[in-house]
Amino acid sequence: MAPITKHYEYLVIGGGSGGLASARRAAGRYGISAAIIEGSGRLGGTCVNVGCVPKKIMWAASDTAKRVSEAKYYGLDVGKVPKFDWPNFVEKREAYIRRLNGIYERNLEKDKVDYISGWARFAGAKGEKMVEVSLLSGETAYYSADHILIAVGGFAEVPQDIPGAQYGTTSDGFFKLTEQPKRVAVVGAGYIGVELAGVFNGLGTETHFFIRGDTVLRQFDPMIQEAITSTYIKHGVKIHKRAKAFEKVAKLPSGALKITYEDIDGKSEIEVDALIWAIGRGPNSAGLRLDIPGIEIDKREQIVVDAYQNTNVTGVYSVGDDIGWLELTPVAIAAGRRLSDRLFGGPQFKDSKLDYVNVPTVVFSHPEVGTIGLTEPEARKKYGSENIKVYNSKFIGMYYAVFDDQEKKESTIYKLIVAGPEEKVVGMHIVGDASSEILQGFGVAIKMGATKKDFDNCVAIHPTSAEELVTLV
Ligand SMILES: Cc1cc2nc3c(=O)[nH]c(=O)nc-3n(C[C@H](O)[C@H](O)[C@H](O)COP(=O)(O)OP(=O)(O)OC[C@H]3O[C@@H](n4cnc5c(N)ncnc54)[C@H](O)[C@@H]3O)c2cc1C
Repeated sequence: MAPITKHYEYLVIGGGSGGLASARRAAGRYGISAAIIEGSGRLGGTCVNVGCVPKKIMWAASDTAKRVSEAKYYGLDVGKVPKFDWPNFVEKREAYIRRLNGIYERNLEKDKVDYISGWARFAGAKGEKMVEVSLLSGETAYYSADHILIAVGGFAEVPQDIPGAQYGTTSDGFFKLTEQPKRVAVVGAGYIGVELAGVFNGLGTETHFFIRGDTVLRQFDPMIQEAITSTYIKHGVKIHKRAKAFEKVAKLPSGALKITYEDIDGKSEIEVDALIWAIGRGPNSAGLRLDIPGIEIDKREQIVVDAYQNTNVTGVYSVGDDIGWLELTPVAIAAGRRLSDRLFGGPQFKDSKLDYVNVPTVVFSHPEVGTIGLTEPEARKKYGSENIKVYNSKFIGMYYAVFDDQEKKESTIYKLIVAGPEEKVVGMHIVGDASSEILQGFGVAIKMGATKKDFDNCVAIHPTSAEELVTLV
């Protein structure tokens, strides 16, 4: 075994949301000697490179296409909605991401975090806490540290048991598409599937969306499931409900894919130009040799941690998607920062940890979804139906008031769930334009323990859709 290249106080494996935030907090704020190891050659992780950022840009393109198609209702004669220039737009998007990669690198320099470019795994004898890195330069280096953070994120899964599944791609492949497919199949009713199907459809691709049940977003409140499923159908997404696993996927000489499937309407076949699997994500833990230090993983190979992000091995921690708790960028960032505060920030931070309750989250569907707290079934189960009250509002936002075509008007739907005699807000679920922006402020209030009365005490902002949330009866 080669000698240790360098010893650090803090070594972070994975230069994504959680790892970058934690390493920068440790070195930048507390002056700890820290290094980050990133294997892909690009900093920023999933969110920046193949997640939140390029996704939001594609969503904005699709949302803009919708607005352009609606401009006529506002007296703006834009004629036919112009064709979307996918190849040029993708280049523009990727240039922006490269700029972000550079900013992340400079931020590490500024905070004096060493950037080690290579793939890491644990090494040495059983029980040792040493990391071997296959540097992208071709050499191998060895590092040790007082504290090691594993923040390696996750990967998109592809079914193993469907012949021809490999002809499809995942959300990673979606971001590599340099041409717009004319026809696409998206599989998986979770938020990533919903978002990608919405983008394709909004930009004019014939979109087949395969879901296992009758509604999309099955982890969300039933109101959201119903609202997004029916709106997508209205928008022209071809939703294949109760789709069983595909029988096979075949590649045709033309390059198109022929999918043999069974859904609620029986057995059938379609041809598409691209197939996107959005069936779930697993942790990037397999190649890490976690058995060397003896780090516990669960049956999904997620790293097991306690509420303070400690693994079972003293001095080794994990945050982010690889623990499989709440797979969101701000969650990974917050957990990473709080961990560094606790480890290096002195006695006032000795109990620092992320509270995973009441985390607001959104779906960039068309229209947007926002959600925080318990769904209605969860609230009924937790508090008992007799102890909760549900406030609902469904209305047509003012933006749609001047639309001549009734069919094009879209509903905004809000639901507030309160519990106990004090009517504490335990869940809020919203569907409609600008939901992602609306939710953040309400998230603060709900996190602080707001009651229905607190909502009512806030004077409405008029005319907005969000004012409905403080005037619910
Ligand atoms: C399509 C899509 C859209 C999303 N949209 C949103 C959104 O709108 N909002 C939101 O909050 N979240 C979103 N997410 C989720 C978000 O991207 C993740 O929750 C977040 O990136 C997790 O951060 P992380 O630090 O755990 O892992 P990552 O950001 O994935 O970073 C892990 C890093 O570790 C590196 N790595 C892995 N193994 C090794 C190794 N052995 N050695 C060295 N480096 C290694 C990887 O290359 C990667 O750069 C989205 C995800 C996807 C896929």
